[in-house]
Amino acid sequence: MEITIKDNDALEGILLYVPTDKKETIDLIISKLTKDEFLHEPTEEYGKTVGMIIEEYGGVVLEHLVNVVFPCLSENEEFVFLFSNLMFWGVSKEFECEDCGCEMDLYNFENHGYEWTDLECSVCDRKETNEPDWDNLMLKIN
Ligand SMILES: [Zn+2]
Repeated sequence: MEITIKDNDALEGILLYVPTDKKETIDLIISKLTKDEFLHEPTEEYGKTVGMIIEEYGGVVLEHLVNVVFPCLSENEEFVFLFSNLMFWGVSKEFECEDCGCEMDLYNFENHGYEWTDLECSVCDRKETNEPDWDNLMLKIN
């Protein structure tokens, strides 16, 4: 599955320090971190920041990662802080999951003349539905 970096304040901050544009910068970060084997199980990484992954799995120092991608900036504290807040994000076409960016699966339902849809993210298990509130409907009918 494709992985990218969420367009957040941390990414905007990083872009102020580097000469490349947003897309090139994202490609650089993803490819360097993949090569360094920091990124390897994408389903575990969507919706998490660099800092969260380090905290969860350990085994790597933040400054090392910055040094892998941006050697000239690894001693800049503000830059290192921004880097730790970069969030890995999925790629979606229609229904973006708010929690991880991946494509949500759409299911249509019909019952008692009502129609509704469920959206489910198979990556992070987020669910959304506009199913009628049956308890409330029954109260009205009775
Ligand atoms: Zn999700």
